[in-house]
Amino acid sequence: MKFLCKCGYSIHDTTDSLSYKGTLIADQDMNEFWDIIDKAEQPHDKKTDIFLELEKLMQRNVYQCHSCGRVFIEDQANKYKLVMFTPCTDGTPEPDVSRKFFNSSHMENWKGYLHADWRDEKPEWCEHHGEIYPILNINIENTEFDDYEAFEKRFYELFEHLKGLDLITDASLTINGKRVFEWKHGKEK
Ligand SMILES: [Zn+2]
Repeated sequence: MKFLCKCGYSIHDTTDSLSYKGTLIADQDMNEFWDIIDKAEQPHDKKTDIFLELEKLMQRNVYQCHSCGRVFIEDQANKYKLVMFTPCTDGTPEPDVSRKFFNSSHMENWKGYLHADWRDEKPEWCEHHGEIYPILNINIENTEFDDYEAFEKRFYELFEHLKGLDLITDASLTINGKRVFEWKHGKEK
């Protein structure tokens, strides 16, 4: 799903590990939450679906607009309704508010992913032949290419760099729809 912020920025929720999305759990549900964790740690009936029980308590999504910092919270009484909050100090809008409200608690050290995609025939919706998609809480520049050699060089350079910093768990390189390189943390041959 996607929706528009009041500032015009389009907020997408179409993939995992979004840096601007979170899940709220009510304080009133915390005892139940710990009870479920406790149950998961004990030998339990396999029919008991711990995951579903947890999911029920953690269904409420929150988003932050990357452009203006506004926050959207799903209404507990009406799950499909997003309520918008504008950051402000003493009633004055605060445009310089942090955009990292919903980053992982590991912040810059959160381990993410590095994926890259090259297409000889550029689809209409793509601006470049090659794009590198770092899903990380640090900024990575120089990710769009029209020269294959520069694209490939940059991908492997970034991969080694991020792997060295222990900042990625997965990496892949796809050329014309074919996966030519795949790496998973701890699964090196
Ligand atoms: Zn916005």
